[in-house]
Amino acid sequence: TEEKSLHFIEQIIEENLANGFPQNKLRFRFPPEPNGYLHIGHAKSICLNFGLGLKYNAPVNLRFDDTNPAKEEQEYVDAIKEDLQWLGFQWDKELYASDYFQQLYDWAILLINNGKAYVDSQSSEAMAEQKGTPSQAGVDSPYRNRSVEENLALFEGMKNGDFEEGTHVLRAKIDMASSNMLMRDPIMYRVLHKEHHRTGNDWCIYPMYDYTHGESDYLEQISHSICTLEFVMHRELYDWFLDQIYDTNKVRPHQYEFARLNLNYTVMSKRKLLQLVQENIVNGWDDPRMPTISGLRRRGYTSASIRKFCENIGVAKRENIIDYSLLEFCLRDDLNKTAPRVMAVLDPVKVVITNYPDGKVELLDAENNQEDESAGFRKVPFSKEFYIEREDFLEVAPAKFFRLSIGNEVRLKNAYIIKAESVSKDENGTITEIQVTYDTDSLSGSGSEASKRKVAGTLHWVSVQHAVEAEVRLYDRLFIDEAPDSHKEKNFLDFMNPNSLSIIKGFVEPSLETAAPGDKFQFQRLGYFNVDKDSTASKLVFNKTVGLKDAWEE
Ligand code: ATP
Ligand code: MG
Ligand code: MG
Repeated sequence: TEEKSLHFIEQIIEENLANGFPQNKLRFRFPPEPNGYLHIGHAKSICLNFGLGLKYNAPVNLRFDDTNPAKEEQEYVDAIKEDLQWLGFQWDKELYASDYFQQLYDWAILLINNGKAYVDSQSSEAMAEQKGTPSQAGVDSPYRNRSVEENLALFEGMKNGDFEEGTHVLRAKIDMASSNMLMRDPIMYRVLHKEHHRTGNDWCIYPMYDYTHGESDYLEQISHSICTLEFVMHRELYDWFLDQIYDTNKVRPHQYEFARLNLNYTVMSKRKLLQLVQENIVNGWDDPRMPTISGLRRRGYTSASIRKFCENIGVAKRENIIDYSLLEFCLRDDLNKTAPRVMAVLDPVKVVITNYPDGKVELLDAENNQEDESAGFRKVPFSKEFYIEREDFLEVAPAKFFRLSIGNEVRLKNAYIIKAESVSKDENGTITEIQVTYDTDSLSGSGSEASKRKVAGTLHWVSVQHAVEAEVRLYDRLFIDEAPDSHKEKNFLDFMNPNSLSIIKGFVEPSLETAAPGDKFQFQRLGYFNVDKDSTASKLVFNKTVGLKDAWEE
């Protein structure tokens, strides 16, 4: 196998190691906010951080960034853990930013004592006005030079619940003229009289992301804190907060930024995905059309295919948009190797073999997966009446129609060569039955001369008397626009595909009768399907995972 070149973060780590950074002090983290389910974008960050952990034999923490009680819930914590495990990664410690609330509070007091933080008692509008513009310095808050004593008293009052939301904030005292707007006295704490999913009502002040993140990394001794490019400007602030507390005997975390994953034909912000769920535009976070990990799993994606996708797209420093078809390519590639082949007919028309004995049933050998010898064979029942796909028959064949037509032969997969003779129709002219004859010596694999006869096409089929009825859910892209959230005048919801789900009834071969939720198959000539979680013994439900060929090219 080819030697893979190192991506830029691996190069940085190699350089750090070469310069004497001890390998046993490498430590990474994946820091989701539990305000929604993980999506395919998170998978990229997960594969990156946990990939580094595996490569350098270093621990990776799962840190819930739970500093905003208004949006966070235990349900999301549980779902995130389940998805991470399913993706195949094991974290070292499960940690919560909320575990550091006391330490963060103590450090805030230290900053106040050192003249590096102050309580501002203006409205958020007034503070926004004073921020200035990148080319124009901001204006100092009238409260910027409050005494340490006054700041300590007010901050304690904030903590004790003496104040309403929006009355006071704690701000870092940095530089109101900085060319980096984030350095113009950013807010560290705000009053929020909200119950937190873990700390309950212990706190009514909550720390902001920028203050929390670096200090949490420091507490956990994370060496490389990896985030997406929109945090580039935050790095200066991340470093400033660390400067205030850093002990030189400890590992000092550094922030590195990589390009987030963008996929076409979908949206990936949790806020927007939540809106799809709350407005019942989809059937929950794990709707098979969603770009969430749980949606992809339910759709029939394998974790190996998602990991492979993340590996293929690589780790870059410049934003780009990845084609959805690349994700499907990785899936198809994996399922081709692993999914057993079976026969299902989704738009059935009945066929009768006029010269086949009434009541006879043959159990024919069918290979489970030609890509995997160890998958073996199964028995498929064959009889006088079977279904084929309606589109596999035309009374009069146009040129290059390698399927069934009057007077022409096709092979039935694993079975015989048949020739169409006549059809029956209803009053609307719809074909209700096709009468055929079969070549009695042509059974596949029998070794006879006729079994080796080449005919133009091979069709899949399901014996009528053995067919098992199933609900099949077919999916199309969720949005009709390549970049639904990129339009100035329109909302992403204006680009929903009204036909993203269709539910049909089909027939599957009897070996599928005992298929269980999550089981994956190739329905021959149709695509890859998996058993949905709604499926029961009395009513099978399949999802179409992906077609056999790329259907995205228009
Ligand atoms: P969203 O905007 O979807 O809510 P987020 O960044 O706010 O995403 P977090 O839960 O904070 O969501 O993300 C956890 C980690 O996953 C962060 O380190 C974040 O940078 C990373 N991440 C989120 N979205 C992507 C993406 N599209 N591509 C790569 N990494 C991502
Ligand atoms: Mg975030
Ligand atoms: Mg977010």
